[in-house]
Amino acid sequence: MKRKDESSGANAREMRESLLQSLIDQSPAFIAVRAVDGIYLYANKAFAAALGVALEHVVGHRDEDLLPGIGIPPLLRAGRDEDDDGEIHTVLEEGELQGRPRRLLVTRFPIRAQGETFATGLIASPLDRPLGGGDDLQTSLAQAEAANAELRRALEHMERLAYTDRLTGAWNRRHLDDAVLVEMARTERHGHPVSMLLIDIDHFKSINDDYGHVVGDRVLVGLVRTLRAAVRRTDTVARWGGEEFLVLAPDTPRAEAEELARKLGARIADAPLAEGVAKPVTVSIGVAEYQSGEGFEAWLARADGALYRAKAAGRARSVADPATAFGPGAGHAVPRSLVKLVWRAAYNSGNDEIDRQHRGLFERTNRLFDAVLTGAPSGHVLGLARALVADIADHFAEEERLLASIGYPERRAHALEHLALLEKAAKLSEQAASGALVPAELFQFLAYEVISLHLLGADRHYFPYLEQPGGAAAGAG
Ligand code: GH3
Ligand code: MG
Ligand code: MG
Repeated sequence: MKRKDESSGANAREMRESLLQSLIDQSPAFIAVRAVDGIYLYANKAFAAALGVALEHVVGHRDEDLLPGIGIPPLLRAGRDEDDDGEIHTVLEEGELQGRPRRLLVTRFPIRAQGETFATGLIASPLDRPLGGGDDLQTSLAQAEAANAELRRALEHMERLAYTDRLTGAWNRRHLDDAVLVEMARTERHGHPVSMLLIDIDHFKSINDDYGHVVGDRVLVGLVRTLRAAVRRTDTVARWGGEEFLVLAPDTPRAEAEELARKLGARIADAPLAEGVAKPVTVSIGVAEYQSGEGFEAWLARADGALYRAKAAGRARSVADPATAFGPGAGHAVPRSLVKLVWRAAYNSGNDEIDRQHRGLFERTNRLFDAVLTGAPSGHVLGLARALVADIADHFAEEERLLASIGYPERRAHALEHLALLEKAAKLSEQAASGALVPAELFQFLAYEVISLHLLGADRHYFPYLEQPGGAAAGAG
């Protein structure tokens, strides 16, 4: 009986969905939905046309990949930080689209599942058609507002059904597929590392047996809530199967993914996932970093193998597959140990964020080194080098903010050193790109001058100032 209800419900839902779909497709308004991880879930033709790109270049892509170097014009931006209050905002905005001044009535609204915002919708109705006097403007504003409200409800409904798991509100496989494709492409093109965590609840059957299915369901909801609260906004938490979940972590090399897995395991064991469940719920986690060129199936199989080992080793733990993007297992026999930068305890500054960034730069420098050593195509090496330079720039900016906040007396000199390094990196990158320099020389500069001399040299001078909140005074000795 339950099955019959479900299938007739599904039919009605399908009909409703296709009605909503045509409503949205026919609308002259520019409509898009952008997930919190930055990937576009939906856009109508009018939106793509307003940006001047093909529709298939919007859905399943991110802002920064969509219009490289230009970005989405402010008028059509969804998910802006200033709208992050979970409210619906409708405003009359003026700006430019493809060099033309436009007036739009823009509605931005959160789309939620299980109380969590997972995406932001945008409906922008053009108001720059020829208008008569003030009354006409009022009428057209009111009309646009009513139409926007209707579209908003339709979109919210569609997006929730289409991309999230009904029980937990986690992403479903459909969105995961999109996110995986985006991240694999970013690794291939720019060398950004990406890792996945495959998470399976330990002895979940006995939770169902002891407390019943309804409580079991609540545990799943609680688990997703806990995972979401612990990961970055750009991470994707998806329900992979019954009591299995997958976290996709962009810009995260294996070592950082292992740290994340440990953190998630601990949070879950500590969190009261559902009322009435007395014993702690634990999970086993398999971690795998994506290896350039392997494809999703092989990547997943490595995570699954690691998960299996975590179960076999006694559960309530995480195990990582040893391979990294261009590391051993990628098919290259390279004496990595000879050349790898190895992080040592003595390199710690005492500031967690700075140490995390420094370790990340180490990791990426090693990655670049592997690519150089294994004779990866020079386009690829250059991509990695550029990504590393961008990371270094971000890190420098962060560090300069920190040094200002602790009143480090040498901060100006330190910032000047940053500037000089970045200028040289930019110049060498340019030369390498034009073929005037072999990529290995660019690597040499990044690894030796930036990482070894600067991170392990100049940076050490400010470490003493970090130790006490009193900053400058503490380091005076
Ligand atoms: P292991 O530690 O080996 O993973 O043991 P396990 O009991 O978790 O593993 P197994 O795969 O044998 O059992 C998974 C159970 O999860 C069986 C299934 O009934 C239950 N399950 C799957 N989906 C749901 C769901 O949506 N709700 C509830 N309550 N239970 C579910
Ligand atoms: Mg299972
Ligand atoms: Mg299980």
